[in-house]
This record gives sequence, C-alpha cells and structure tokens, in this order.
Amino acid sequence: MCRRPTSPSESNDASGDSTETYIQIVTSGGRRIPAHPKILASASTVLESIIYKPRKHRSSENIIPILGVPCDAVEVFVGFLYSNKCTEEDMEKYGIHLLALSHVYLVPQLKSRCTKALIERLTIENVVDVLQLARLCDAPDLYLKCVKLVSNSFKAVEKTEGWKFLQTNDPFLELEILQFIDESESWRNRSRKRRKEQSLFLQLSEAMDCLEHICTDGCISVGPYDKKPTRNISPCSKFSTCQGLQLSIQHVAHCKKRVNEGCVRCKRMWQLFKLHSSICELPDSTCKVPLCRRFRTQNMKGKKQDGKWELLVRKVTLAKATSSLLLSKRKRNEKEPAPPCGINGYDIRNLVC
Ligand SMILES: [Zn+2]
Ligand SMILES: [Zn+2]
Ligand SMILES: [Zn+2]
Repeated sequence: MCRRPTSPSESNDASGDSTETYIQIVTSGGRRIPAHPKILASASTVLESIIYKPRKHRSSENIIPILGVPCDAVEVFVGFLYSNKCTEEDMEKYGIHLLALSHVYLVPQLKSRCTKALIERLTIENVVDVLQLARLCDAPDLYLKCVKLVSNSFKAVEKTEGWKFLQTNDPFLELEILQFIDESESWRNRSRKRRKEQSLFLQLSEAMDCLEHICTDGCISVGPYDKKPTRNISPCSKFSTCQGLQLSIQHVAHCKKRVNEGCVRCKRMWQLFKLHSSICELPDSTCKVPLCRRFRTQNMKGKKQDGKWELLVRKVTLAKATSSLLLSKRKRNEKEPAPPCGINGYDIRNLVC
C-alpha cells in the first residue's frame, strides 16, 4: 500500500517520481513551499480544480498563491495536507488561520480539528474575533459556543476591544448577538416561571393528599367524623403542610365571618375543598372530605367552570399522579412504611358542609 508522504520534502523521495513537476505555493511573505500536485489535489478539491484547470488560466510557473495568513501557518497547512496531522502547538499559534484555510480549501478534517481546538481555547478576550471568524467560515458549533460565552459573560465581553471593534464595524452581527442574548434571557425567565408554577402545583397536590388523609385517617389535631379520637401524637410524613391545613380546618369550623362575609382564610380553604372535589376519584358515598358531594352535584348540574380553573385542576391532577409515582418508586426502594398518623378528636362534622 502506498504511504502518503508526511511533508513536501519527503514526497520527492517517497514517491520516487522525480520527473513530476512540483507546484510552488507562494505565501504573503514571499516564501515558496514546493508541494506535490497529486497530494494537494487528493487532500483538497479546491486545490485539485486549481491544479488541473487549463494552463492558460494560471501561471505557467505552477504557482499557487496562498496569501493573507502568516507564512508558517501556510506551511502547517501544507504539512496537514500531506500527513493529516498537526501539533497542539501549531493549533495554539495558528488555529484561526488554519480554520480559515480549511474552509477556503475545503479540508473538512482540518476544519473539525480547528473547531475543537478553538472551542477549547475560547476566552473573554478572543471570543468576539473567533465568533466573527466562525460565522465567516460557516462553523456552526464554534459559532454557537462563542455566542453562548458572550451571552453568559456579556458584561466582561462588552469591555473588550473585540466587542468595541464589532460595534463599529459589524452592527448587524452585534444585533444578531444581542437578539440571541435577549432570547436566552426570555427562555431562562420562562423556564424559571415554569419551575415556580410546577412547585405551586406540587404544593397543591400535597395539600390534596393531606386533606384526604386528615378526613380519612385523621392527624394530630383534626380527625374524621366516624372515628374515635386517639392521643397518638406522631406527626405524619407531610406534617408541615398537614399542620397548616388542620389549623385552617379548625379556623373554618369556628369562623364567624366565613366565606360569605369575605374571610380570606375561609375562602382559601373553600377553594381547596372545591379542588379536592374536582380531582376526587372516590364514589360519593366513600369520600369523607367535606363539601366533596356538594361541589360534585353543582358540577353535575352543569355549572360551567372557567378555563383557568380547569387548567389548574388538570395541572394538579398531573402533579398528584407524578408525585404518587415517585413515592411508590421510593417506597419500593426503601421498603419502609410511612410513620403512623395520630387522631386527636377534632370532629370534622363541625365544618361548613
Ligand atoms: Zn397528617
Ligand atoms: Zn374564616
Ligand atoms: Zn372526595
């Protein structure tokens, strides 16, 4: 099998084809790099079309100018065309030039190597320059990393010379970046809002569990109407929520103003009973939560709920299903029963039903 030479000088000996004419690659500094045309053509389709295009369109001296980048970068580039390799030191020194050359001369392996190397070397200072180059060279992965870095560190980036230069010379790119930052910020806000809402639905779902548990099993200070009170004072597993609900239930039982006269606390509890009734799956005769049957009857009579309420019901039902799935999974893992609940003689019949 024929081995590809690793450098232009080795090419002469390795190919054994001393009669073939060399191409001279000429750099901006006037350096001439001899190179084997077949090797250049096999590594780059752009060079292939330059090399094999009819002679009248190009210099009779077999010269290919590669200008606008340092001479050493061109040497590294030609070396890569021969060997498919370049060192980390080369990447450190000429990464941006090699990216440009790999784009212009269509050398995908070098382009991917440069993209990775430049991503690893992104800094606040160089990010704007690299971003502009990534855009010019159609390197989307690199471009995205740059925009994200600018977006996450905008205060620092806007102080750099690169950003100031961009503002003066490329206002469209500046606008594009600012739009990206704006969209990321609104995405962050939306996801913050979603998390907040999710936590509210989970709290309501927990309140629903506690309400059923208070009205069915009883807890520290409120118990169901059909069970004898006991003095078991062990708090249940969701006691912080459960205790608040028990205090509200006790308040409702004693409140003189109640909902009709505008008591906010009674109104809130009333809404929780209504929410329970909307998600309750027990038959009327089995459910011990106050007002459940009354609200269900209202629903059956066709009293239409507003869209917001229906959405709330759907979200809490979903949160309840999710948390019960998580709980059963945890229980399967732990195999430990939940702590027992106490009943302390508060008769739920005293409520507003
Ligand atoms: Zn409890
Ligand atoms: Zn009240
Ligand atoms: Zn119910």
